[in-house]
Amino acid sequence: MSVELAPAEKRQPTIADALPKAEIHLHLEGSIRPRTAVELAARHGETITLEEVGRRYQYANFAGFIDAFKWVTSFLREPDDYRPIVKNLGEELIRQNVVYAEITISAGVMLRRMQNVEANFQAICETAESVPLQRVKMAWIFDAARQFGADATMEVARCAAKLRKAGVVGFGMGGDELAFPAAHFRPAFDYARSEGLRVVCHAGETGGPEAIREAVEILGAERIGHGIALMRDAALAESFAARRIVLENCITSNLCTGALAKQTGKAKAELSDHPLAKFIERGVCVTLSTDDPAMFHTDLLAEYSKAASLGLSNKQLLALAEQSFSAAFLPANEKRALLEQFRTAAKSAGLI
Ligand SMILES: [Zn+2]
Repeated sequence: MSVELAPAEKRQPTIADALPKAEIHLHLEGSIRPRTAVELAARHGETITLEEVGRRYQYANFAGFIDAFKWVTSFLREPDDYRPIVKNLGEELIRQNVVYAEITISAGVMLRRMQNVEANFQAICETAESVPLQRVKMAWIFDAARQFGADATMEVARCAAKLRKAGVVGFGMGGDELAFPAAHFRPAFDYARSEGLRVVCHAGETGGPEAIREAVEILGAERIGHGIALMRDAALAESFAARRIVLENCITSNLCTGALAKQTGKAKAELSDHPLAKFIERGVCVTLSTDDPAMFHTDLLAEYSKAASLGLSNKQLLALAEQSFSAAFLPANEKRALLEQFRTAAKSAGLI
């Protein structure tokens, strides 16, 4: 087994290769490359091997993925530990012509480990602002882990609000979807919104359609992380289409974590089981992202290849790529400028 897997290996190019792109569901910690994990561990006097990372970056189920995430983030102990991962991720995004990224930071995990979130975020921002990483605009979403409970989630919302002027645009919640009812977290979401933050929530990844409904109705989520359980509720899908609520789909992630197998009731799901194309046919707004690219051995170009394999036409791929800009948590003028850049590139590639 290769541990430094090349995401682009064997993939078919798509029209997305030539276009400037946005990626809006991307976890910073999930982008830790195997080699970087080894280096981070060494900084703290621990020896791990590439083979071990390779083994840990394969999952029997969703709980296995969460365990691996916990394990790899355990090597992030000081602000400086964040610098190489931001640098690597920025370079990777530039390589793929991603011009805008909303990157999720597990602030809930930092707080749980009694770290100084402000100091970590300063190191992250300093690295992101360095040349040449300025070629990709990075905005930040602070994420709480649902299983840590309501108080810890509120603490993340407070941190996000405090650092809004430093570049945090959103507040979200991920982790174990089945832990605690949505109503527990409403005060944190209400607070985040009142402080001018945009709000997102992972839902319907391993949970059912009701988790998606609650994320929107109770927590006021503007976008849903994954939301693949919507495939099991036609009426809810219709209402999402009418209300233009965005699902942030991540194909490879759903295959690697077993989330798609769970939703389909199969022992092992195939690419063709993924609902992305059906969502688009039903008029549901969907974006495409990698989620945790290093941990799922993927990149955004590979995700577009998989979307093409699901039968999406070039026109649909173009609309899918444009949706990631439209759904971005950007001020209207900045969004307009990026959409214009996207359409100009699409025009010169003869796509519109
Ligand atoms: Zn995610």
